[in-house]
Amino acid sequence: MSTSSDARTATDYPPIKPQHTGLVGKCPRCGRGRLFSGFLALADHCEVCGLDYDFADPADGPAFFVITFACIPVVAFAIWMEVAVGAPYWLNALLTFPLLLAFCVLPLRPLKGLMVATQYYHGAREGALDPAGNAGTGAGR
Ligand SMILES: [Zn+2]
Repeated sequence: MSTSSDARTATDYPPIKPQHTGLVGKCPRCGRGRLFSGFLALADHCEVCGLDYDFADPADGPAFFVITFACIPVVAFAIWMEVAVGAPYWLNALLTFPLLLAFCVLPLRPLKGLMVATQYYHGAREGALDPAGNAGTGAGR
């Protein structure tokens, strides 16, 4: 989509730390536009500065961190409740399900925003082969 703000380039905006924009779901370039159009769906572009979000591809990164740092401890809690405490199934489910929602679903959006903002901040992009064949020589740097 073309807007009058497309004429501005990335150099017209001072760099903003990813944690200041991504965690709150703001545009990584201007820090004012919305990054998301839904809970986890990215918008097509920033409505303030026009930055196209096609570069953004966090893939499974947010899910990996949530599984590693949230889901495993919650499942360990559920197993501990069952084995050590001997809690009935209904009590275990009553305590574990809200923990799963709180620790696994809620962090997905800030983590995805942080990863997209970090991609923009560092200019990360998909890897490509060196057409000059300088692999391993350090000549391509
Ligand atoms: Zn923007």
